[in-house]
Amino acid sequence: MPPYDLVVVGAGPTGATVAETAARTRGWRVLVVERRSHVAGNCYDATYPGTELLWHCYGPHYLRFTRPGTMAYVGMFTEWLPGNYVVRAEVDGVLVPMPINLETIELLYGQAPLDETSARELIAQDIVATPEPTDSEQFILSRAGRRLYEKLYANYTRKQWGRSAAELDPSVCGRIPIRFDRNPYYVDSPYQVMPRDGYTALFDRMLRSSPNIETVTDVDWTADRIHGRAATVFCGPLDEYFGHRLGPLPWRSLRFETEVVDQPWYQPCVQVNYPGVEPYTRKVEVKHVTRQVSGRTVVVTEYPSDVGDPYYPVPMKESRARYERYRKLTVRERESRQVFFAGRLGTYRYINTDEAIERARALADRLA
Ligand SMILES: Cc1cc2nc3c(=O)[nH]c(=O)nc-3n(C[C@H](O)[C@H](O)[C@H](O)COP(=O)(O)OP(=O)(O)OC[C@H]3O[C@@H](n4cnc5c(N)ncnc54)[C@H](O)[C@@H]3O)c2cc1C
Repeated sequence: MPPYDLVVVGAGPTGATVAETAARTRGWRVLVVERRSHVAGNCYDATYPGTELLWHCYGPHYLRFTRPGTMAYVGMFTEWLPGNYVVRAEVDGVLVPMPINLETIELLYGQAPLDETSARELIAQDIVATPEPTDSEQFILSRAGRRLYEKLYANYTRKQWGRSAAELDPSVCGRIPIRFDRNPYYVDSPYQVMPRDGYTALFDRMLRSSPNIETVTDVDWTADRIHGRAATVFCGPLDEYFGHRLGPLPWRSLRFETEVVDQPWYQPCVQVNYPGVEPYTRKVEVKHVTRQVSGRTVVVTEYPSDVGDPYYPVPMKESRARYERYRKLTVRERESRQVFFAGRLGTYRYINTDEAIERARALADRLA
């Protein structure tokens, strides 16, 4: 193998961004090693076999930016479609907005119209106050009350994580806002977009942006462990790098059931959550955001699972403690061999794609 200044493990958003930035700003020769047969990491999208429809193969990705500078950077490699991220939850046969907003409260309390004051008064009777919540159940009970917790969070959280909300950090359910207005959109960011030609095209363009970047797929880096002369950026699972020597870090995975439906639309918005007793958590019809025009549609049903690819780090005290022990090992790797751990898998944190890109750009700047 010819010598590379930088070796990047993983061609996902983190790896593609580090590689592009290092090649462009330093003129480094970069090798990107990806063990899947494609680039774009978990953002990978492709045409669903036998159709003309784009499909998000590892779960739907709703791109949002908090910083316009990050959006401008990614915009060098794609044009945008406006995001249309609307999510509803099916509760007792009725579709209610998620995150909770005034309409959700009206539908679940059977009282309308409500404004912020009357909605707050209504849920106040169900609130179980905990001044400093230490788990997700306490957090939601103290902010939204028992009725909304039981209807929207209790089962959903148990299915999603295989654990009750009482076993999970407050941040797990706290990530989803509770709104006292009528904002119907899933995320709060002012910049909600979808890459016009999809994510795979976007990250592929990043990786092809310089002749100094060489990308190989279907190669597991751990087989040969090639390092860069200046640095190696590892975007794979942290515990795997160290041969799981401190035990496995707990991950939650997903199983997808995909069907092609012979009708233009299957559901009224991109995502419908199922917080009831059914074994799945959500159904996704990504055509609502790709805006393809077709007489048929692809619907993906998600079943959370402990088995399968690592998707979500499980946010509990025990996993945080184990991660801390692994993190100490990463310091040694960095100091002795210039190995940097990055991204969703390498830092054992759930990060959105925009954050992954921001962190990757900052890392590339630090590598020198
Ligand atoms: C189900 C799900 C839904 C999501 N939805 C959203 C969303 O709506 N909006 C949003 O902004 N973000 C979303 N995300 C987060 C988003 O997927 C991540 O922010 C993003 O993928 C992080 O990029 P990454 O490059 O760090 O990791 P990844 O995309 O996971 O890429 C890592 C790559 O490294 C490769 N790799 C690992 N080990 C090795 C090895 N030993 N050798 C070679 N290659 C290796 C992997 O195959 C993978 O391709 C979602 C995540 C999940 C799991």
